[in-house]
Order: sequence, then structure tokens, then C-alpha cells
Amino acid sequence: MSEKRALITGGAGFLGSHLCDRLLDEGYEVICMDNLLTGSTSNIEHLFSRPGFQFIEHDVTNFIYVKGPLGLILHFASPASPNDYLNMPIQTLKVGSLGTHKALGLAKEKDARFLLASTSEVYGDPGVHPQPETYWGNVNPIGIRGVYDEAKRFAEAMTMAYHRYHGVETRIARIFNTYGPRMRLEDGRALPTFMTQALCGEDLTVYGDGLQSRSFTYVDDLVEGIFRLLMSDYRKPVNIGNPEEVTILEFAKEIIELTGSKSNIVHKELPADDPKVRKPDITKAREILDWSPKVDRSEGLKKALDYFREVLDKN
Ligand code: UDP
Repeated sequence: MSEKRALITGGAGFLGSHLCDRLLDEGYEVICMDNLLTGSTSNIEHLFSRPGFQFIEHDVTNFIYVKGPLGLILHFASPASPNDYLNMPIQTLKVGSLGTHKALGLAKEKDARFLLASTSEVYGDPGVHPQPETYWGNVNPIGIRGVYDEAKRFAEAMTMAYHRYHGVETRIARIFNTYGPRMRLEDGRALPTFMTQALCGEDLTVYGDGLQSRSFTYVDDLVEGIFRLLMSDYRKPVNIGNPEEVTILEFAKEIIELTGSKSNIVHKELPADDPKVRKPDITKAREILDWSPKVDRSEGLKKALDYFREVLDKN
């Protein structure tokens, strides 16, 4: 990888935009590509005046043309919240399959290193806990989450095929629930929903009994993990996530306490195939990348709260 020039698909999204920041800070020229379906120019407007930054509005399910050399391709384009992929099932399937194919084709053409943003959803509703990379998962292919899970599983298979057959330099990050500034308030995920509800004095909507668990990673930790994986020579999937596990009910209570809100908790129907547990086994990330999360939940939630307060104040 000689060229310090990177393409980030989904670069105007939550994670993509933080990666644009990081790669610019590392001295890369950054081409941010996004069709703005779930991404927003507000996430990257601070970069428009920065030398070395370029934005291209494009849907990566169509042929991707980039002029000049590329050293890195980070493929982050995809709806990523359950609400979004339930509302956009075909786009979700297309970007994970056709979009990944196009992005890999470009990596082959440019001789660029390729990093796939994969997901803990490849483990589905897991039968092994915590989840190591060696676990093959428990996914319902025809369920409502299948459009995302199977697209990402296909994307991993396609990435490995381009590595094995074409010799493309590939990396696969299995990203667990991540939170922080630039999440969309209305994206339907637990954290932005609970924060918004607590700050607006509305009841927090916990699905089911709330005893299902998740493990939440602060965005700065995630970006560090992705960058280390990118710079490593490890080609198989690596879990990037914070193993600090919490039930959703406990999580909702933490947010009520943190915001000082008078909101109550109400229970709503649990969506189909909602994973009952999720927690990464990060032995590999520790050993290979010397990475582990530094921001614990109480600290991360405070930082996230500052952001959500600011955005709500503006609206
Ligand atoms: N959830 C909830 N209330 C909400 C949104 C989500 O109880 O308003 C639950 C959801 O059912 C899941 C967990 O919180 O068990 C995390 O959901 P999220 O949408 O953040 O992402 P997921 O981890 O399911 O992809």
C-alpha cells in the first residue's frame, strides 16, 4: 500500500464520517462516497474546507469510478439500524452484495487494501456466548433481520473470495453496537431513542422484558480498533467491540439516571429475531491488534449525552 489515498464508502454516515476524520489526521487524502440514504452531509461539512478531502455523491451498488490511485478502500456503506433495514430491505441487500462486489472490484483494479465493515449480526441470535470469531452464527435467512445479516455474511464470503482468488489485501471488522456523536436521533436504535425520550420527558420504550443484552462501544474506541486492523496484516475477521455487557432494561435505567429525567419505562412488543444476548470475545483483537476499549460506559454515555443535548437544543 504505497498511496496515502483512501476511499470510504458510507463516508457521510455515523462511523464513516469518524473514519474520514481519522484518516485525514493520519495524513491520507480522503474520498468520501455516499448516496446520503442514511448518511448526511452535516456529518462531514466540517471537512469540506480541509485540504485532501473530497465528497462524491454516489450509490455504490452501481459501478464505482474513482480517478487516480487508491491505497485503501473502507467499505462502510449500508443502512445499519434495524429500523432502517426493515424500511429499506432491498437497498440493504443490494449494498451488502452488489455494493461489496463493486467496491472489491475497485480494490482489485487499484491494487488497494480493502476493509469490510462487517457486523456482530453475522452471529444472529447467538447460541454461543460471548461470541468468538470462530462461531458460525445462528441466522434466520428469511426473517426481518435476514436482509442485513445475510447481506453482511455474503459480503464476508465475497471479501474472502477476492482475497483467495484475486489476491486482494483484505480485512474484515465485525463491529458490535457502537454509539457516540453523529448518530441519527431518529434511527430507531436503543441509545438514540432512549436519550431522546429521556431528554424530552417521554417514556422510554423497552422492547420485551428488556432482559436481552448488548455490549456498547464508544465510537473513539471503535475507530482506533478499525485503524489498527487496517494497518495490521491479519486477513480473517476480527471482533471490534466492548465486552462490557448490559441488559437493555438496565441500560434504559442508566440513561434515565444520567439525564436526571422524570421519564418512566414502558414495555413494547419485542421485534422478531431480536438477539437475546450479544457480547464480543475480543481475545483476537487484544492479541493481534493490542487493542481493547478505553472508554467505559459511564464515561461514554456522558459524552453522548452532550451531543444529543446539543442537537435537541438546535431543533
Ligand atoms: N430496543 C428497545 N427499545 C427501543 C429500541 C431498541 O428496547 O426503542 C432494544 C432492541 O429490541 C434490542 C436492543 O434494544 O434488543 C438493541 O437494539 P438496537 O436497535 O440498538 O440494535 P441491535 O443491537 O438490535 O441491532
